[in-house]
Amino acid sequence: ATPTAVMVATGVGASNGVLIKGGDALERAQKIKYVIFDKTGTLTQGKATVTTVKVFTEMNRGELLTLVASAEASSEHPLAKAILEYSRHFHFFDEPCDTKESQSNSEQAKFSGWLHDVSNFSALPGKGVQCFIEGKWILVGNRKLITENGITIPSNAESFVVEMEESARTGILVARDNTIVGAIGIADPLKREAAVVVEGLLKMGVKPVMVTGDNWRTARAVAKEVGIHDVRAEVLPAGKAEVIRSFQKGGNVVAMVGDGINDSPALAAADIGMAIGAGTDIAIEAAEYVLMRSNLEDVITAIDLSRRTFSRIR
Ligand code: ADP
Ligand code: MG
Repeated sequence: ATPTAVMVATGVGASNGVLIKGGDALERAQKIKYVIFDKTGTLTQGKATVTTVKVFTEMNRGELLTLVASAEASSEHPLAKAILEYSRHFHFFDEPCDTKESQSNSEQAKFSGWLHDVSNFSALPGKGVQCFIEGKWILVGNRKLITENGITIPSNAESFVVEMEESARTGILVARDNTIVGAIGIADPLKREAAVVVEGLLKMGVKPVMVTGDNWRTARAVAKEVGIHDVRAEVLPAGKAEVIRSFQKGGNVVAMVGDGINDSPALAAADIGMAIGAGTDIAIEAAEYVLMRSNLEDVITAIDLSRRTFSRIR
């Protein structure tokens, strides 16, 4: 392809909301053999919704929700946003109601007078968050987070989490000073186009794969819904980059599609990183392609554009 053809293709991409950082990336995309999709916020809407709140102590639901929302207030994770949204409605209306536009955490912070003061906050990517609230050590996250901190998960909490996972949801545990005090079930629906895009890739001879930090049970349930057969679950951010490298063996060209901070090592490791436009800035910086419409159909648009620009048979 001539430099002019590359310029034209880049322009066509841009007018479709596909930003391409350079002609090299545009050229590589025609050879993509595997597309590795992140789950949360990439295949799923990332507009997670709390469906179930379980309390295992003398606390009431409102108290539990305020505790969890306070712990999650500084997290950018879609699950954290869902919890904040739900808790805010619970607090102000005493019952959950449908939300219109989800507000960013910083906007929410303006109305955050009801939250507890938090100290020593840290986010543990792929696991959850921890902090201190009113002198008590609070953990909010998955099994791994809880057990790695030496806390035992009682059987009622474990079966709640399993129940969530088997219905493609995520079960989040809440520990206060070494005791599980509650659990939250969160549903995150697939993007409407996800299954069609997976089918389209297969037709193009491209193999779709899903990689996620989430647990195996939820991962399998979601993969089945979307039509992906190759799944890697319980993968930490550094591990996602490892997964990319394993697919690259033998010279395969591998694309990674992701939205989160946790995806940026994998986006950088991939031959072509494609960041979801609605994702975090760090992911966007690490990627060669930015899908501004956050629509997965643009993965196909991107590959098509490259194939049409560089195929010798025209
Ligand atoms: P994905 O790879 O699907 O985008 P992540 O790696 O971001 O998922 O997260 C994996 C898992 O870690 C989540 O399903 C959740 O159980 C837990 N987790 C991560 N961040 C948080 C958070 N802020 N609050 C609670 N749980 C979290
Ligand atoms: Mg994600």
